[in-house]
Amino acid sequence: MNPLEEALKIKDQIIAWRRDFHMHPELGYEEERTSKIVEEHLREWGYRIKRVGTGIIADIGKGEKTVALRADMDALPVQEENDVPYKSRIPGKMHACGHDAHTAMLLGAAKIIAEHENELPNKVRLLFQPAEEGGNGALKMIEGGALEGVNAIFGIHVWMELPSGVVGIREGPFMAGVGRFEVEIEGKGGHGASPHETIDPIPIAAQVILAFQTIISRNLNPLESGVVSVGSIKAGEAFNVIPERVYMSGTYRFFTSETKSLIEKRIEEILKGTTLANNASYGLKIEEVGPPTINDPEMVSLARKVAQNLGLKVEEVPKTMGAEDFAFYLQKVPGAFIALGIKNEEKGIIYPHHHPRFNVDEDVLHLGTALEVGLVFERI
Ligand SMILES: [Zn+2]
Ligand SMILES: [Zn+2]
Repeated sequence: MNPLEEALKIKDQIIAWRRDFHMHPELGYEEERTSKIVEEHLREWGYRIKRVGTGIIADIGKGEKTVALRADMDALPVQEENDVPYKSRIPGKMHACGHDAHTAMLLGAAKIIAEHENELPNKVRLLFQPAEEGGNGALKMIEGGALEGVNAIFGIHVWMELPSGVVGIREGPFMAGVGRFEVEIEGKGGHGASPHETIDPIPIAAQVILAFQTIISRNLNPLESGVVSVGSIKAGEAFNVIPERVYMSGTYRFFTSETKSLIEKRIEEILKGTTLANNASYGLKIEEVGPPTINDPEMVSLARKVAQNLGLKVEEVPKTMGAEDFAFYLQKVPGAFIALGIKNEEKGIIYPHHHPRFNVDEDVLHLGTALEVGLVFERI
């Protein structure tokens, strides 16, 4: 069985599925239509199905070991600006990260795997998960038993930072861990003309924000990577009133638990010290949202070998401070998260993930399918 030949046979079908999902995007935990279509096909092809909300765990084959493949199905609250026949039909929702392509590629793989069930060296488990975008759908899947008995797991993400058709694999840390913080600085409000009678929280917030910038530049070892970004600030309503409070929220990124702890500690210390020096007080909610995505070296070499055997071009993909909830699976089971290049300048497919004009080069989706099939036909 040649996975690439098999995938090529259903290339148009994979594109048609992708377009259908693209026209009907569903946000995290609302993937009713998408999961219904996926489930119907999987049942027809003989998979044993377990539902986890809008998520699907689908098993096929026999064997001592189990290899899992994962696709995410959720879209984003983005208004599509592409002018294509398969443009999103749902206002304000769009598959702007390519999860429509992930679902279609894995569905294609599911079809081929089922047709060659008797040749499988391992049991195969397919995971169609909800809510990757900020919803930690992977955790729900794990709670629902997704990893029980699983020995290895692989996932593919279409990747705008790689030329179309190039497979990007990286050993060890690939995507960052992510955390979020919410800050409240409480001062004392009053008349804008009488600042001496107030404790103005706005300049205090400004000091805090500037001091946050020193966490990465002055506290973190320059050879390590980290991010602290304040993404929202809310304070006051009127031009001549000093408000009582400032609210802000932001995100931080890290690859190691040391960096994570350092950022969390410095955020609190800066808030504490700055508000103390200004007679104000603060509230802080800070939490890790997800761990870094760390690829297992053995699984990476396996994936590299499979991709090369299929004749695909393989490169080492650079690390990114973006995050992925696939990280939760990799905390429990060895595996690899793999990038599939979809950037195609000639076709105008150049806009970044989450952009209203994001698109994928559909002509390479069958390569993702072939890679998934190749992976489960490898003895682990
Ligand atoms: Zn995304
Ligand atoms: Zn994504």
